[in-house]
Amino acid sequence: MFKRIPGTKDILPSETPAWQTAEAEARRIFSLYNYQEIRTPIIEEASLFNRTLGSATEIVQKQMFLIHNQEDLYALRPEGTASIVRSYLENNLEKTRGFQKLYYIGPMFRFERPQKGRLRQFHHIGAEAIGSEEADLDVEIISLAAEMLKNFGISGHQIKINSLGCPLDKKKLSDTLKKELSGRMDLLCPDCRTRAQNNILRVLDCKNDSCRQIVKDLGLKEEYLCPDCHEHFAGVKRGLEDLGIPFKTDPRLVRGLDYYNRTVFEISHDGLGSQDAIGAGGRYNNLVHELGGPEMGAAGFAFGVERLLLVPNSLNRTLPQKLVYLVTLGKEARRAGIKILNRIRNAGIPADIDYLNKSLKGALRSANDAGAAFVLILGEDELKKNSISMKNMSDGSQKEVGLDNLIGELKC
Ligand SMILES: [Zn+2]
Ligand SMILES: [Zn+2]
Repeated sequence: MFKRIPGTKDILPSETPAWQTAEAEARRIFSLYNYQEIRTPIIEEASLFNRTLGSATEIVQKQMFLIHNQEDLYALRPEGTASIVRSYLENNLEKTRGFQKLYYIGPMFRFERPQKGRLRQFHHIGAEAIGSEEADLDVEIISLAAEMLKNFGISGHQIKINSLGCPLDKKKLSDTLKKELSGRMDLLCPDCRTRAQNNILRVLDCKNDSCRQIVKDLGLKEEYLCPDCHEHFAGVKRGLEDLGIPFKTDPRLVRGLDYYNRTVFEISHDGLGSQDAIGAGGRYNNLVHELGGPEMGAAGFAFGVERLLLVPNSLNRTLPQKLVYLVTLGKEARRAGIKILNRIRNAGIPADIDYLNKSLKGALRSANDAGAAFVLILGEDELKKNSISMKNMSDGSQKEVGLDNLIGELKC
């Protein structure tokens, strides 16, 4: 028998209600904040990601799902932002309306060793607001994420924020780190020794104990920020305070991707163990220009849907459904029953029929298993009287209803 590829997951009917709730709530909140949906292909030119995420990042070096097609090298998207900025520019969205607020929901792909909380195909719910450098926009992005979590039924999470500053500040921070770490290279984990060469900021968020201790001893502050970036970060913090959104500043928070500058943030939850991030984002002011567009600010975030679902008691609401279940006895009743079933569905009421042709008792059990609110029983007697038996499953009461009144009875 065939099996799914390691690191992928079937989302089964028992799980989809939580997914549907997450997606429906996300869409509702996005529209409250005036974000519009964009859907880009899951496959792009691989060089789009090399260019934007950074060729030294772990995603590009080790985790890209590559597809070789004659001369072309394609990649399954490892994240959403690069594709959306590509689409924004390719479709001239900056010319129709400079400032755009976009959201997306869909699968992402990273080729990595499958482990708990990490999949090769996983799903993001994310937003990108392109065309403004204002600190208020960073505040909106973070507050939108916080509002969404509230509506997912999630509490007890922590929002950490930091500012990486502009590219000059980032370079200053990298240089300081290089200097500080040069004497302590042998204490770093093997990954960080490589990072120190080509992506040194990542040393800051290494989970290795020895690396954490070294980073802690550095006593990093915001001194690398220029006055403008300092003021911008102050604006973000002030805005979050004004909205009563709890957050913690964390000078070690860097996010691994090259395109981030100024504000970065991460939302984590203690209920998840060592891979505790449920969402993250930040500002990426140079990305639009990097991809051939004008200089313009942008900020965004994404939640990992699988991570959200790991939070205990999140999204556990099932969608209310008032299913009507039809049981027929005999050939004549069956034929008439199929037509009645059709009428009920056309009236907008979810309805189903017993397809296993079981005994009355067996059919009633099926109705119960399906979570039916009402069971309709149609036998030859009822058929002659142009009526049907209607059983209310919540209180067990039963009555006979004329077929002409059936829809009205089911609707009340
Ligand atoms: Zn700066
Ligand atoms: Zn390390």
